[in-house]
Parts: sequence; C-alpha cells; structure tokens
Amino acid sequence: MTEISGSDPLVRLEGVNKHFGPLHVLKDIGLSVGRGEVVVVIGPSGSGKSTLCRVINRLETTDTGTIVFDGRELPAEGRALARLRSEVGMVFQSFNLFSHKTILENVTLGPTRVRKISRQQAEQRGMELLERVGITSQAGKYPAQLSGGQQQRAAIARALAMDPKMILFDEPTSALDPEMVQEVLDVMTGLAKDGMTMMVVTHEMGFARRAANRIVFMADGQIVEEGSPSEFFTQPSTERARDFLSKIL
Ligand code: ADP
Ligand code: MG
Repeated sequence: MTEISGSDPLVRLEGVNKHFGPLHVLKDIGLSVGRGEVVVVIGPSGSGKSTLCRVINRLETTDTGTIVFDGRELPAEGRALARLRSEVGMVFQSFNLFSHKTILENVTLGPTRVRKISRQQAEQRGMELLERVGITSQAGKYPAQLSGGQQQRAAIARALAMDPKMILFDEPTSALDPEMVQEVLDVMTGLAKDGMTMMVVTHEMGFARRAANRIVFMADGQIVEEGSPSEFFTQPSTERARDFLSKIL
C-alpha cells in the first residue's frame, strides 16, 4: 500500500471511471471529503450515486483513477480490505439486519468477530449505541418486530459499533413510511453534529440544507455541480441542477 498523505482529506477520489459493460456509470469523478465533513449527494435516479458510495468501500471496483482513504490507496484485497470495510460504515436503503439475530446481536456481531472485543464489552457498548439511536427497549427483539424507522436506527448503531472513520448512507430513508423518516434523519443530524464524517445520498432536501457542509449534484455519472447548501439551493449554476430542483422541491 502506498502511503500518500498523513492527514486531510479523509477520502479523495481522482479521475475515477467505472463501467458496467458498455455503460459508463462514473465519469472522471474527482471528489474529496474532509474529516468531519458532511457531503450530501443528490441527483436523478441512475446517475451513479450508489455506485459512487460502493466504490469508496470497494463493494465495486473501479476501471481507472485513484481513491485514497485516510492517506492510503484503497486496498484491493485481503486484510487491508477487511480493515477498510470496518473503517467505512455503510447504511443502505434496505436495512440489511440479520433477521435471525436480535437487535443487540446485530450490533455486537462486528466488534466481537472482526475486532475480537469480548462479548461483555461489546454488549455494554452496544447498549450505549442503542441508547444513542433511541432504541434500547428493542435490544432483545428481532428485526421483524421493529418498525422500519427502528430497524434503520439499529443499522446505524451497528455501523457505529465498528468505530468507523466515515459512514456512507445510501438513501437511508427512502424505504421508510413517511412518519418514520424524521426519527432517522434526527439520528443522522446528531452524528453530523458530533463530527462524524458522512457521505449521504438522499432526496431529503430539508436534511441536506440543515446538515450538509457541501452538496454534490450528480447526473449521468458526472459531478455536475457542487457547493454549499445555501449556494446550491438558492442559485444553482447549471441548468441541470435547476431542472432537478424544480422537480423535487
Ligand atoms: P443511482 O444510485 O444514482 O440511482 P446507480 O449507481 O445505482 O445510480 O446506477 C448507475 C447506473 O449503473 C444505472 O444505469 C444502473 O442501472 C447501472 N448499474 C448499477 N449497478 C449495476 C450493476 N451491478 N450492473 C450493471 N449495471 C448497473
Ligand atoms: Mg442509488
């Protein structure tokens, strides 16, 4: 592994390209996320937002370009890759909890298996994390017994249990009933305030305005525009961003 730089930013992509067969889904992506920064990625369906998340923790490979995480180029395989995955939390639209394990077991599984932390310690920390996301009373239940909002908060607690340096959220509230969206966004806002580095793909523009340090607008595999929420929402500089905003706001 190449040691590139000691500090800022936490993640940096340069000239990243990705194809799925003939489809060019990431086109020359250049993007940095600073430590403690909250970057909200928005854009039409199919623009490459999920793929962008997935290349950062190497759930997808890239064709060309460089991705540097915490001063090192992304590892291709082996222990270094496992470590990277444990340092980059991921929260998906579908909560991806283990259905045959309790909520607390879901949260302690990573720390005990990957980090070799004792079960007792992991459970103590797990309960603290469930408290942070407001679902301690659900600890002994199975995922199917929880509401969607509670399951997604459990998924966030599970990501936090690995002490990630960053969390990627890919449309974390898109599968939720409307009345449960806010409780999940509130947890995310809390994390942002606590200084967690976050990249969030979302259509929740209220959250984007309040919590983002920067908005990245993607279309057709490209970053078309980026800026502060106030710049982006009040005076988007491209026609495509104006068009997109006119459809969703
Ligand atoms: P978004 O999250 O912005 O909706 P995605 O990153 O999911 O966009 O997808 C970008 C494009 O890549 C879409 O055209 C999608 O159909 C395609 N795509 C995504 N994943 C795959 C895959 N595993 N194989 C082939 N095509 C894919
Ligand atoms: Mg997507």
